[in-house]
Amino acid sequence: MKLCLFCESEVVVEVNHENRNRMVTCPKCGYYHISSEATDDGVPMNIMAEEKILFSSYLRNYSAKNNPVWITNDLLSKIGQVVLPYKKMSVLEKLNRIIRYVAEKSRYIGDKVKISYGDDFIIFFCRERLRSPACGGQAAKTLRG
Ligand SMILES: [Zn+2]
Repeated sequence: MKLCLFCESEVVVEVNHENRNRMVTCPKCGYYHISSEATDDGVPMNIMAEEKILFSSYLRNYSAKNNPVWITNDLLSKIGQVVLPYKKMSVLEKLNRIIRYVAEKSRYIGDKVKISYGDDFIIFFCRERLRSPACGGQAAKTLRG
C-alpha cells in the first residue's frame, strides 16, 4: 500500500521503469507526476501540515490526467510559495468555488451533484472535511444545481 506524500491517502502508482518517475492517482489530489528524486526525498520537513493540505487542493484544481503537474525537488521546495495565495482565501471565495463546482457538474436546474464527503473538500481549499460552516456545513454532501 502506497500513501500520497501530501494527503496520505492510499494511491495508485505507475512506475516508469526507465527513469523511476511515477504517475500517481490520488482520490484527493487527483493525478500528478513525481520524479524519482522527489519521491526519495519527500516533502521538506519545514512544510507544515496545513501547507500540504493546501498543496493537495492546488493539485486537485490544477493538475489533470492529460496534463499532470510535474513534481520535482524544486517544486517541493516551493510548496510554501505555491500555497500562499490560498491561505488567505475568504469564506466567500470558498463558497463561490462550491457554487461554481455544482454549476459545472449539474446537467440541468435541480440536478443533484454528489460531493464525496471524505475526498472532495479538497477541491474548495478547505482544510478538512465538509463539516465546518465555512465550507457549507453537513448539507454540502449533496447540492442541487
Ligand atoms: Zn493526495
